[in-house]
Amino acid sequence: MQQGIMELMWNSSHVSGSNVHYVEALYEQYLADPGSVPEEWRTYFDQLPSVEGGSTHDVPLSPVRHQFEQLGRARRTTTAAADSGESKKQVKVLQLINAYRFRGHQKADIDPLDLRSPVPVPDLDLSFHQLSKDDLDTEFQTGSFFLGIDKAPLREIVEALEQTYCRSIGCEVMHIVDTEEKRWLQQRFESVRSSPKFSDDVRKHLLERLTAAEGLENYLASKYPGTKRFGLEGGESFIPMMDELIQRGGGYGVKEVVIGMAHRGRLNLLVNILGKNPSELIDEFDGKKLIERGSGDVKYHQGFSSNVMTPGGEVHLALAFNPSHLEIVSPVVEGSVRARQDRRDDLEGTKVLPINIHGDAAFAGQGVVMETFQMSQTRAYKTGGTVHIVINNQVGFTTSHPQDTRSTEYCTDIAKMVQAPIFHVNGDDPDAVLHATQVALDYRQQFKKDVVIDLVCYRRRGHNEADEPSGTQPMMYRKIKEHPSSRTLYAQRLVEQGVLSEDDAKAMIETYREDLMAGNHVANALVQEPNTSLFVDWQPYLGHEWSGHAETGVEMKRLQRLAGKMCEIPDGVEVQRQVAKIYEDRRKMQAGGLGLNWGFAETLAYATLLDEGHPVRITGQDVGRGTFSHRHAVVHNQKDGSVHVPLQHMGDGQPRFTIHDSFLSEEAVLAFEYGYATTAPNHLVIWEAQFGDFFNGAQVVVDQFISSGETKWGRLCGLTMLLPHGYEGQGPEHSSARLERFLQMCAEHNMQVCVPTTPAQIFHLLRRQVIRKLRKPLVVMTPKSLLRHKEAVSSLDDLANGHFHMVLPDQGSLDAGQVKRVIMCAGKVYYDLAAWREENERNDTAILRIEQLYPFPKEELFEALKDYVNLESVVWCQEEPLNQGAWYSSQHHMRAVADMLNNGLGGELKFAGRPASAAPAAGYMSVHTEQQRQLVEDAFNV
Ligand code: AMP
Repeated sequence: MQQGIMELMWNSSHVSGSNVHYVEALYEQYLADPGSVPEEWRTYFDQLPSVEGGSTHDVPLSPVRHQFEQLGRARRTTTAAADSGESKKQVKVLQLINAYRFRGHQKADIDPLDLRSPVPVPDLDLSFHQLSKDDLDTEFQTGSFFLGIDKAPLREIVEALEQTYCRSIGCEVMHIVDTEEKRWLQQRFESVRSSPKFSDDVRKHLLERLTAAEGLENYLASKYPGTKRFGLEGGESFIPMMDELIQRGGGYGVKEVVIGMAHRGRLNLLVNILGKNPSELIDEFDGKKLIERGSGDVKYHQGFSSNVMTPGGEVHLALAFNPSHLEIVSPVVEGSVRARQDRRDDLEGTKVLPINIHGDAAFAGQGVVMETFQMSQTRAYKTGGTVHIVINNQVGFTTSHPQDTRSTEYCTDIAKMVQAPIFHVNGDDPDAVLHATQVALDYRQQFKKDVVIDLVCYRRRGHNEADEPSGTQPMMYRKIKEHPSSRTLYAQRLVEQGVLSEDDAKAMIETYREDLMAGNHVANALVQEPNTSLFVDWQPYLGHEWSGHAETGVEMKRLQRLAGKMCEIPDGVEVQRQVAKIYEDRRKMQAGGLGLNWGFAETLAYATLLDEGHPVRITGQDVGRGTFSHRHAVVHNQKDGSVHVPLQHMGDGQPRFTIHDSFLSEEAVLAFEYGYATTAPNHLVIWEAQFGDFFNGAQVVVDQFISSGETKWGRLCGLTMLLPHGYEGQGPEHSSARLERFLQMCAEHNMQVCVPTTPAQIFHLLRRQVIRKLRKPLVVMTPKSLLRHKEAVSSLDDLANGHFHMVLPDQGSLDAGQVKRVIMCAGKVYYDLAAWREENERNDTAILRIEQLYPFPKEELFEALKDYVNLESVVWCQEEPLNQGAWYSSQHHMRAVADMLNNGLGGELKFAGRPASAAPAAGYMSVHTEQQRQLVEDAFNV
């Protein structure tokens, strides 16, 4: 047992001397939560004897102290024995080996510029372990150090450790708790001392790819000096790295690779890896490229798709379009990958590989990086591991000093939160880069987890080609000016080692340049006639003009059958009381004995879509139940905690119904779902905010992707956002989903903003979103109290025969000729207005609901108004304050329609709502109630 604990200490920490407190703390942690300590320790603690009739847990710390007393005795015995023999030194040698595994990376030669401030690493000195030069020729056991021999002289062991851990690769794996993974990784580096012998052909290929990387930048620099291109100079090894990932991935049977990347090096990747025709790029530089539609985007944000040939066959590559907002593309890539994996039923994630490429400053700085790591192993978002590459040029725009860029040692430390292995590799050593790349991909394929390659390099020019970097980084750029390129250094090395002649090396430069000038493709694996079955066919969804109409009714018999099916809960599932009542009510609704509520109609919309072959995916913080408990699509068995999802049991061969409560993020989650929806046109993809106002945690996704992705990049997206919205006295938060923000961004039919107010409306709206071939983001202001409002009910007939009404005309039986005033509104305020009218018998006032605020339904509104020939005033009533809601963004549409009436009332459009306010809503219920009363009254009297 004592030996066991020694082993544990050596494996968990390089300091084995003063570990008592560490182990005690770990033991306390174990007592509080056994699952929170590493497995080895859990096994050890589990075996501790219980004391005096009680369990171990009753007597905190005593068993571990007891063990340590014994350990102390044992160690004294060992020491005594060791004093007289070699065993003490043997122990020290094993400690030294572990010290290298833990801290060798801090001494490694990973910075091509040698600017890294050296960290003192005393643990790597012989003296720290009470060893000396005199011991160098003594043979010691090598323990688990993979030298291929059990025993070796200390000199040889140290040399091997230095080679393995302190040369061009700084390897961080000791934070990984899983012993198998850690050993696997150690073996991959230790068995070849981190420098496998690559064949001459492989090394020539490396040089050729480096030549391509450098050649493109040189060409563009000479032809377009000073033009922004965010060149790769200094980080050229990135190109052979990508080449290897794709080729090796293909060898593993990967069929698609999705790549996310910021601007630096992007043009190089496009031309040299994805196979964009250089002449196309040159046209863009020459300003010849014209766009057919939309705004377009700058060339270093453009995505690209192509197929390349690999040892395992054809592989489809997709480079995601990205905005300037660094890191946000990463979760978009993950979503796109997950959609592709789902399409292929690739549950393990072996067939589609995500590669996310980061800059060092953004990787350390941006919170969405953490969110993306956090999602990487969750059920809703996992993609079988991502290969992360950090192009670490040691400068973020002008900020280069680690004291300013981060508080962590490395820019990659955040990855340790998911225990991802991290390989820091010197960009000037392409052999080491290749090795790190191979291990990274092999690890991903083997363990299905994230891995990070930190490509330590530099930025030969400024942030862009128009910058003069020595103004802000004088010392770094003095060094860079004198520093030969990675390609030059590698070519020299290969010539010196006789791998090729100097002339051959020069010829590579010439060949590349000639190809470029001739406008030939320079990605040598490019497939000219790609196999299109490797990716989704978007053809059916392209070229549709905006239309708000779709046949969304469902034949009554089918509707009833599906409604019955979606309420079935198998015997053995014990349903909680309130949930059982919801299902009971649903059964009554199905039988026609009860008016349909929101939850029923929404669930039935999913059931019908599944029945028609459309997969449905819903995520968000409480989507299984619904924030306001209206959905209960996931039923929790009260007996054993298992879950039953009725919509997953609608019939054999049904499409996938995915519903997951998300982890507590908005930004990465919404970006992921955007990525999913832009890759899965046949799906209904929904993100629901817990409360609508939380979407602003993901504002960048709305601004940079959802609202503008189509016009910038031509990428269609049918994502649906459900945002609970409505003024119910819950305070400044949880009242408003910031309708005004969405409306302010609306133009060119970029998205749909809807405020449905009846169960039938949400049914038809959700169905319309998928049944039309048009793919546009849909933003829905969803209700809270309306989920249970006695007036907000529909009938099965409304579902069977209706469609989504962009405008709901007045529901009363008014005499049109008598109507003097029309109140237009959106959302739940309608029910307050209708109640007030009834109470006050205002039969001269019609109330219309505009259920789709964008694209604004002018014709439908005109239809709803045109019979009121004696109209005197038109009012827009909203719950939101004057400066929020639809008033500012939509009033011109309403005025235009009112002008079309005989008596041209556009100029008379009046406002009833809350006064302008900095906060979205009042914090006190009494103030809220008074404001609400007032605005309803105003609507009838202003
Ligand atoms: P990808 O698999 O992302 O490389 O896409 C393959 C091809 O499908 C692209 O070249 C586009 O022509 C088309 N495509 C992919 N996604 C979209 C989208 N969201 N909207 C329109 N077309 C798309």
